[in-house]
Amino acid sequence: NLAFFNERFIDPNERVLPVEERGLQFGDGVYEMIRLYRGVPFTLQEHLDRLEQSAHSIMLTLPKTVEEIAAIVQAGIAQTKIAEGTVYIQVTRGTAPRNHLFPEEVAANLFIVWKEGVPDLGKQQEVGVVVFTFPDERWHNCYIKSICLLPNVLAKEKAHQRGGHEAIFIRDNEVKEGTSTNLFIVKDGVFKTPIADQSILNGITRQKIIEILKKQDVPVLETRLTMEDIEVADEVIITSTTQEAVPVVQVNDRKVGAGKPGVYFQKLAAWFQKEVDQSCSS
Ligand code: PMP
Repeated sequence: NLAFFNERFIDPNERVLPVEERGLQFGDGVYEMIRLYRGVPFTLQEHLDRLEQSAHSIMLTLPKTVEEIAAIVQAGIAQTKIAEGTVYIQVTRGTAPRNHLFPEEVAANLFIVWKEGVPDLGKQQEVGVVVFTFPDERWHNCYIKSICLLPNVLAKEKAHQRGGHEAIFIRDNEVKEGTSTNLFIVKDGVFKTPIADQSILNGITRQKIIEILKKQDVPVLETRLTMEDIEVADEVIITSTTQEAVPVVQVNDRKVGAGKPGVYFQKLAAWFQKEVDQSCSS
């Protein structure tokens, strides 16, 4: 495993930060998580574009161009020779004495971590997972991939303590997304997923899946979803960079459909793998 801090590659365990750092003290930063398949970063450009948008949304200037960051990501992959793994990128508003106001003339801090290995999805994709719903206690700008993840951490932990795999946020009576996943339902052969407005993160996996479904002529709607929609859904699927697509077989105490992974999930998983194989052939 390897890391990068501002201008140089470092050991991931090297201590490079003083306590007075805006990411540490204020959660004043944004991030991205990218998946490597066979040593190729999947949808790298989309992730870096979103990083730039997230930074712009919090009035933060990236310390390097997207092209420069892409080159560092690739250099780290070459150096570590990771085939299956992840690259985590974090940009914060820099190192400065604690003060809510933006520091003047302080450059942003850029961290990158390359990690070998990915979660084993085998069992989850085979038998499906249980999720629990929670009131969405996050802020109004969930479209920004902010490092302030306390509500996400707390909800996921509560779901875990009840034996669940993921927590799903409900806001204004609408089902929104998971703590680190987007959500799709399938009803009568139609995929439905919440509208990517300011209340959710527009996942790169979500976008890719919508693209794949359209290519396959499977109807997909971006629409409001309520708990009633979940209750009558044939299938529920959560998606993310690291988890790809995972079938949900139970929401709270209620089974989804037949209580096992559905046919649309199986099809989607196969189409997604094909897409990955095409983009990440080494
Ligand atoms: N929603 C939230 C809140 C997330 O944190 C994530 C993953 N970081 C996602 C959705 C999924 O996004 P992606 O497909 O880009 O990984």
